[in-house]
Amino acid sequence: MRMARSVNEYFRCPESFIQLAQMGSLSADSGYFRFGSETICYGTSSSGFRSRQVTGPLHDVLADVSTDRDGTVRLALDPTEIVENLRHERYELSGGKGVSRLAESGLSQTVYYWLRPLLPVSIRKHLQRRRLSDWQTLAFPRWPVDRTVEEIHERLLALSLKAKGLQRVPFVWFWPDGAKSCAIMTHDVEALAGRDFCSQLMDLDSSAGIRSSFQIVPEVRYPVPGTLLDEIRARGFEVNVHDLSHDGRLFSNRAEFLRRIQRIHQYARDYGALGFRSGVLNRNQAWYGDLEFSYDMSIPNVGHLDPQRGGCCSLMPFFIGKVLELPVTMIQDYSLFHILNDYSLDLWTRQLRAITENHGLASFIIHPDYVIEGRARAIYQALLEHLATVREERKMWIALPREVDRWWRERSQMKVVTDGGRWRILGEGRERARVAFARIAGDRLVFTVEDDNEATECSSLAPTA
Ligand SMILES: [Zn+2]
Repeated sequence: MRMARSVNEYFRCPESFIQLAQMGSLSADSGYFRFGSETICYGTSSSGFRSRQVTGPLHDVLADVSTDRDGTVRLALDPTEIVENLRHERYELSGGKGVSRLAESGLSQTVYYWLRPLLPVSIRKHLQRRRLSDWQTLAFPRWPVDRTVEEIHERLLALSLKAKGLQRVPFVWFWPDGAKSCAIMTHDVEALAGRDFCSQLMDLDSSAGIRSSFQIVPEVRYPVPGTLLDEIRARGFEVNVHDLSHDGRLFSNRAEFLRRIQRIHQYARDYGALGFRSGVLNRNQAWYGDLEFSYDMSIPNVGHLDPQRGGCCSLMPFFIGKVLELPVTMIQDYSLFHILNDYSLDLWTRQLRAITENHGLASFIIHPDYVIEGRARAIYQALLEHLATVREERKMWIALPREVDRWWRERSQMKVVTDGGRWRILGEGRERARVAFARIAGDRLVFTVEDDNEATECSSLAPTA
């Protein structure tokens, strides 16, 4: 059933628990509307109106939901379409100097300011700050963490529970071994100084018991010695490919992209790399069908401070065709230190709290090049200590990106089945999987993981208006 596909794939609950149907016919035009007071959607709908601007009054389609006698929930939106629009950044960017364009429409000229190596850093920073000066006026995606995709799925599950009069719904818990959330640490190696700092950075990560991935630029920027790649792998870290030459032109036109991606794939085979990240999170999701990687890490959750704005509005991995996307959900070191001029842990801990409370993926980009200097390095070490504490206290799984990729792929094939009154999970990797239950308590959806006494609450979520 197409309408329920997205929510079924997200929770991996038995299909019979969720029955969704369309109310009326969908509009020809697309625009912004709400699904609950806080949740902003972009796409078509079959009630009220759709707005070009996210600011200003928006129609709430949650008020139009109705229920059939058989427990079918009738909706004035197609959740699968809306979720895909958000994840694939198919929405209009509005606010911020009155700009209105599709987020997916590709390369912005601001990339230029990030990549001009001949400009002194102080001038580059000044130009970037000026270019981004409107970032606080951007109303969508939600700063500093946007979980609209998860909110939509949770609301649909809550509506289904109510419509069918069910106590609870079993599903496959999001993370292995009952972990409450997940984190990955990744390092993009930008230039020679960063390359030469990789060994020390591995020492820092190791002292916190954290293994990370290193994204290597294969051409132009610096020579890539085999000894470095060997060291990274031998110490249990991971090697990935970072763009081709990092000149901001990977997605400039289709023919050039196809030419470059062949070379990138060859480097991936040479390095034994499964993952990819583009330079300065440049992207064109429409071309991801040509990516021969198991996973990509080039899409921000909310891209207000990145040269290419937009964002996938999700704190969870998701598939773009065959490629698994591990979205960038934490502010990058460069943006924190050089755009916001903030040398504290405040924003990182704030984002991390929002992510761990909602069982999401915290994914960091820390550049070796930008943490050589003492003040930045001290903040990074404090971050590592904080992550080690969160791992203990909040049961966060800190893993290599390739481990997260493998887990999410296994989970995407798992099923919850009933077996003489008890729910169990089928599928490869099930030893590490846990059955979880979702139920409604007051105006909240509450998750409980089996073999775990603690109930875990979602952020407030009224099932009906
Ligand atoms: Zn880079």
